[in-house]
Amino acid sequence: MFRLLEKDFICFVIAYIPEADICENYNPTSIAGECVDPNCAKFHVCTFHVKSVCRMQHCALPHTYDDAHNMKVKEKLHLSSYTDSGINKILRNKYPKICMTYGCDTIEDCPYLHICSKFCFGKCAHGLKCRFGHSFRTEHNAWILKAYGISEDEIWSGSPIARGLTIAKRIL
Ligand SMILES: [Zn+2]
Ligand SMILES: [Zn+2]
Ligand SMILES: [Zn+2]
Ligand SMILES: [Zn+2]
Repeated sequence: MFRLLEKDFICFVIAYIPEADICENYNPTSIAGECVDPNCAKFHVCTFHVKSVCRMQHCALPHTYDDAHNMKVKEKLHLSSYTDSGINKILRNKYPKICMTYGCDTIEDCPYLHICSKFCFGKCAHGLKCRFGHSFRTEHNAWILKAYGISEDEIWSGSPIARGLTIAKRIL
């Protein structure tokens, strides 16, 4: 499936699969690998690895999709032929990314959120004076959130979705 970021024309197309998700029992705050749901249909994978930011030398969480559980999930989602990095990409596309370029407002139709990443994590101390912006409700950000099907009530500083956002390394 694809998300479309459109204005008068389609600006960006993002591949994603709505059902594909990472098991929350594998999030960084839980004990590694504690999912007791035998019917769990989410990937058992290291969230940080999916975002390419896992710095653990011997990470306790899976970095591949080759084990029995993940194979089953892949099959269910018709992703068996996908490579690990292809699945990582689909999982990363579930949520928008944060634009790394301050002042990118000059580039028209940037597909990334224009917001302070520290604010997203609930940790920016600059308040109203922060030059990176602290509002999900600007015209630009509202446009992006709408394309991803995220309502403004679901996202705020420190909310689970906001904390899960990653920073875009480059333009799509
Ligand atoms: Zn699970
Ligand atoms: Zn890891
Ligand atoms: Zn931008
Ligand atoms: Zn800030």
